[in-house]
Order: sequence, then structure tokens, then C-alpha cells
Amino acid sequence: MLKELYPYWLAGQTASGEDERVVLNKFNSEAVARVAWADRGTLLDAIAAAQAAAEPMAQMAAYERAAGLRHCAQRFEERAEELAQVLCMEAGKPIRDARGEVGRLVDTFRVASEEATRLGGEVLPMDVTERARAYRGMWQRVPIGPCGFITPWNFPLNLVAHKVAPALAVGNPFVLKPASATPLGALLIGEVLAELDLPAGAFSILPCSVDDAGPLVEDERLKLLSFTGSHQVGWELKGRAGKKHVQLELGGNAACIVDEDADIEDTVSRLVMGAFYQSGQSCISVQRILVHESVYPELKQQLIDATAALITGDPALEGTFIGPMISEAEAERLQGWIGEAVEAGASLLVGGGREGALLEASLLEGVPPSLSLCREEAFGPVAVLSTFTDFGAALKEVNDSKYGLQAGLFTRDIHKANRAWDELEVGAVIVGDVPSWRVDHMPYGGVKDSGLGREGLRFAMQEQTEMRLLVIRDPQT
Ligand code: NAP
Repeated sequence: MLKELYPYWLAGQTASGEDERVVLNKFNSEAVARVAWADRGTLLDAIAAAQAAAEPMAQMAAYERAAGLRHCAQRFEERAEELAQVLCMEAGKPIRDARGEVGRLVDTFRVASEEATRLGGEVLPMDVTERARAYRGMWQRVPIGPCGFITPWNFPLNLVAHKVAPALAVGNPFVLKPASATPLGALLIGEVLAELDLPAGAFSILPCSVDDAGPLVEDERLKLLSFTGSHQVGWELKGRAGKKHVQLELGGNAACIVDEDADIEDTVSRLVMGAFYQSGQSCISVQRILVHESVYPELKQQLIDATAALITGDPALEGTFIGPMISEAEAERLQGWIGEAVEAGASLLVGGGREGALLEASLLEGVPPSLSLCREEAFGPVAVLSTFTDFGAALKEVNDSKYGLQAGLFTRDIHKANRAWDELEVGAVIVGDVPSWRVDHMPYGGVKDSGLGREGLRFAMQEQTEMRLLVIRDPQT
């Protein structure tokens, strides 16, 4: 099914240079495809083409942009199984998670097509003071201009979509660098974009080295850098980005509070999903589970049983829940964190075993809060259990993190839900579910080290546009 060599997309056309890289199946390490590999000169050409495309892109009418996005959604739907199989291979994503991501890709483009026609403004009363009596004001949003996008490997389709679809919705040309481990998803999106009648230079999708990606960060012709990835890289890039607007979607160590009145069976099924879907390699994967002491024994036992029942193995098999981590080195790193915790006195309740890049779904309790397993981002199939008696102390513990993406809370007490919403230092509080829950139109992003700005179509469109005010003086007023 996979082509031998995937060209990159330069100014809307397929192209390739002298260099190429092999993409591996993350389960069995077999080569599945080769991709053309761009160099710095190609990046600069792409940026020049994007700059030239800025005006014609901005002139596209909203109904034309909406129609293009609708076409993409339809084509992704038609190619859904092919896309899911590619994801399964290049990211090692369990096939049902891969199908889930393709469904979200379709949603993201569909919602973008709707939002493309709603990019409105506001009439601003000016008569707030005597001297402005003769004036009227109104503002609209205009495209920010050529954008640089950098995306990670854990959602090779939908996180590309969260930058590309808003760009098309508002009329921004862009140059995108996908993650080196998973470039195929973005290149397939390019195939569908190429079916649209876009101005030349509207899009470039260029797998390349991080060094050659420098112009995406530093080149002043680009007006926005939108980055999704680790906090270490994200904040470093922001420091180099100069005058351009920067949007960062970074990592986390998401917490979930289970209060004394939670429905244990329902909570356990959601926690298993939140901690272990796509093998825990999600920025909002449940990592810290804080449980009210009164329900802890029951919840713990049910969670251990449900976790032990998860099938680990070949992500292409329908029954597999836990597939490989992105690399054996990553699985070793996380197993090392588990070992460090056990040495420090923690109990390994289930899991801990590893075969190559396959790390079993694992639960621990009694992990000292100063250890990596609590403080850093695990980014794999591991969660840590702890108990609380005082709800306020649990909220403080959730906040005792450098991250702040989303938090979950299982309670039936509306007052506690409101208090959590007010006090938790995160981008979103999810009541009655895990922090891992997301629908693609909602404002999504983090505070503290977890990021800057918001994605979710309408909100990413705000980030990718600027407000332009019109003031009119009427001397006859
Ligand atoms: P990463 O190592 O930070 O890489 C992300 C992207 O940045 C890749 O394309 C990478 O290229 C590129 N990159 C790395 N260093 C760069 C540099 N100096 N200049 C330009 N580009 C550079 O992150 P990852 O391991 O791919 O992804 C996992 C991280 O993403 C986790 O921390 C996760 O939480 C976070 N994430 C956040 C969200 C969110 O929405 N908040 C969603 C998903 C993932 P190469 O692939 O070539 O190294």
C-alpha cells in the first residue's frame, strides 16, 4: 500500500532533493517507506513562496476557503482506512486509536470549514467621551501572514490538522515540518491539499532535520510560529523567534482527582482509557491519580484488574490496547523511572515488564513526589496512585506541578466542581471524566510550562489572525 518514495511538498508541488530518510514500522522496525528529505535551502525557498502567496491567500473568499476544507474532510473520510493503517505503522499506534485519530482529522477539517465563514468582527461604540462623539469604530480579523508550523510524532495527522486547517480557514500560507519519526501522515495530508485550487506557495510540507528547520523559527518573513512538542524544545524556540507571534502546545503530567462520591466502576473504565489509550503517549494522558482515602481500596483493586487485562502487542491487531512506545530508548527511559521509584520505596501494583519498545501498562503507589514519575512527563503507559482526605489539599497537589494542561475530577458535588474550576492552574477542568478528554473544536492549551495560546479551530484562528480596527469620523455628527 505504501509508495516507495514519498516526495515532500514544496510550494504545493511534489519535489525531492538528494537526501532521503527511511520510515520504520515502530512495532517490528521494518522499513515501510522512504521520504524525501529537505535541506535548509528548500526551507528558504518554501518561505519565499509562502510570502508570495500571502496576498492571494488573503484574497480568497470565505466560501472558497470553506469549500476547500469541506473537500479535505470528505477526502480524508474516503481514505480513512488507508490513513489509519499508515498511522498504525509509522507511529506504532494501536489500530483502533489510529482509526479514532482519523475520525478526529475529519472533524477538525469539517469544523474548520464551518468556522471559515464565521470569522467576524465587532462594532465598537466610540461615543464614550465627548471628543469621540463624531466617530464610529469596528474591527475585523485579518490573516497574520505566512506561518511556520512544527509538529510532534504522537498525533501525526490530527496535530498537523490543528495548524493546517485554521491556516486554510483564515487564509494563511504555511511551511510545516513534521516529526522525523512520523512524516507520512503530514505528507498524505499534502496529497489532499494538492487537490485544492490554492495559490502557488500556499503550503509546503518538508521533513527535515531540526538544524535545517531553523528558518521556521528565525526567519522574519514568517509572522507566526506554531509549535507542538516538548516543553524543553518549545520554550527554547520561543526565545529564538524574534518578533513573530508564538503559539506553544507542550507537555504535561495530567492529574485526575477521584472524590469520595465517585461511581467507582465508571471511573475505573475512564481512568484506564485516560491513562493507557494510545499507550499513554498523549500530552493529556492520566499520570497522577489522586483518590479519596475512603474509596481507595475498592478503586485500586478494580483499576489493577482492568489494567492487567489490557492486551499488549502488535498495534495492527484489533484487540491490542497497548502498542510500542515510539522507540525502545523511550521505553527503557520510562522503565528506568519505574525502577527508580521502586528503589525509593514505591510499590509496583501491576505491569513494569518490557519487551523492546513494548512497556506493559503499569500502576504504582507510594511514589515519592520528588521523583520523575510524579514531577516530569511520563509520556507512556504508566500512572501513579495516591490518596487524600481533604479536597483542598488534593487541588493543591494537582497544582504542585510545573505543567498545567488539563485536569480531571470525578465528583457529583457541584460546589467542588466549581471550586476546582476556580482553583486548578490548567487550561481545562474536565468534571466527570479524565483530563485526556478532548473534542477538536474546544479551546485547548496549557498554562505554566505546558504552553502559550490555544488551539481548537475558532481559537487557533484567533491566534492566526490579527485584529484590524476601522475608525470613521463623521463631521456631521
Ligand atoms: P519534540 O522532541 O519537542 O519534537 C517536536 C517537533 O519539534 C518535532 O518535529 C521535532 O523534530 C521538532 N524539533 C525538535 N527540536 C527542534 C529544534 N531545535 N528546532 C526546530 N524543531 C525542533 O517532541 P516529540 O517528542 O516529537 O513530541 C512529544 C511531546 O509533544 C511531548 O512532550 C508531548 O506532551 C507534546 N505534545 C503536546 C501536545 C499539546 O497539544 N499540548 C500534543 C501532543 C504532544 P524531530 O522529529 O526531527 O526531532
